[in-house]
Amino acid sequence: MALVHLEHVTKRFGADRPPATDGLSFTVESGRILALLGPSGCGKTTTLRLIAGFETPDQGRIAIAGRTVADADRGIHVAPEARGVGVVFQDYALFPHLTIGQNVGFGLERTSRSERRARVAQVLDLVGLTDFAERYPHELSGGQQQRVAVARALAPAPTLILLDEPFSNLDADLRAQMRDEVEKILRATGTTAIFVTHDQEEAFTIADQVGVLDQGRLEQVGAPEVIYHNPATPFVAEFVGAADFLPGLVSREGIVTEIGVFGNLNGRALGSRVRVMIRPDDVTFVPDAAGEAVIVRRYFRGSENLYCLDLPSGHRVHSSQPSSAAFPNGLRVRPEAHVLHVVTFPATS
Ligand code: ADP
Ligand code: MG
Repeated sequence: MALVHLEHVTKRFGADRPPATDGLSFTVESGRILALLGPSGCGKTTTLRLIAGFETPDQGRIAIAGRTVADADRGIHVAPEARGVGVVFQDYALFPHLTIGQNVGFGLERTSRSERRARVAQVLDLVGLTDFAERYPHELSGGQQQRVAVARALAPAPTLILLDEPFSNLDADLRAQMRDEVEKILRATGTTAIFVTHDQEEAFTIADQVGVLDQGRLEQVGAPEVIYHNPATPFVAEFVGAADFLPGLVSREGIVTEIGVFGNLNGRALGSRVRVMIRPDDVTFVPDAAGEAVIVRRYFRGSENLYCLDLPSGHRVHSSQPSSAAFPNGLRVRPEAHVLHVVTFPATS
């Protein structure tokens, strides 16, 4: 069942500025996690605020659990508190003068005192903070505050939870741990979630579906593997991982490039010119004095060595090699491409 549905949602902040969201349409199935991924300013927060009801769309329609909560044509706008949506903000937005227990119970004012106490205890247990109910936010670490924010959003048992870059204030170790924990909680409670991030690894790790946004437009929505291996646009290709593009000519034998001939999987017209996406994991090389490529730079990444290879045409490709494979700059090599997922885009002339 579709739990969230957006149809051509456009939001402008000023007539002379490009829209913050531009005809957005997507669906999130019940119990699933969607990551909205994109660079700063692409409209991620605005999208969440529109769904939560803090903003009103200029065009389009939003439905949650089958109910229209916003419709620009019909002038429908359901108030945020009536949408059954929980929100976790980037800065957690905890109330500093309330205890952790009071923070978590904040959205439960309509339930009885005893019910509220039981529910607060239940969600604090869920996020592993049972002993912290009487403390104040400033007495907690960043990771603990983040968990309180998640507990507060989950307390009213929302049908949908929205998380705006929830891990961006945490350091790398804690971020990975929190992201696993939050995912576990969302899955365990069957909560549908949309979370926003500019970090592609984070989106890939947590989400069932990833939507890539650029300048308010949704470039592609799909499973993480599809987004990575079959990006719909060059923007998506480059945003979700390292990508080089080599010119290719479509022939009967396949797509001929400087480093190999690849299958014409996209069915491009014979004789046409295309750009072939090459990922570092598609390219290997062997040292060869007669090789046509030259190592121009090695990036030691710990778990891998990333090499930049200069080709005779002046184009460059990157090659991911094991951590132990160290070769010097200037070495002549013979590149070999093993492209499983051949992705091509029309040549830009
Ligand atoms: P993201 O969260 O992806 O960084 P935002 O949704 O915050 O992007 O912003 C998208 C665009 O809309 C930006 O150009 C931003 O400056 C603009 N914008 C967002 N909120 C407002 C607002 N309240 N008033 C004016 N412009 C805004
Ligand atoms: Mg934002």
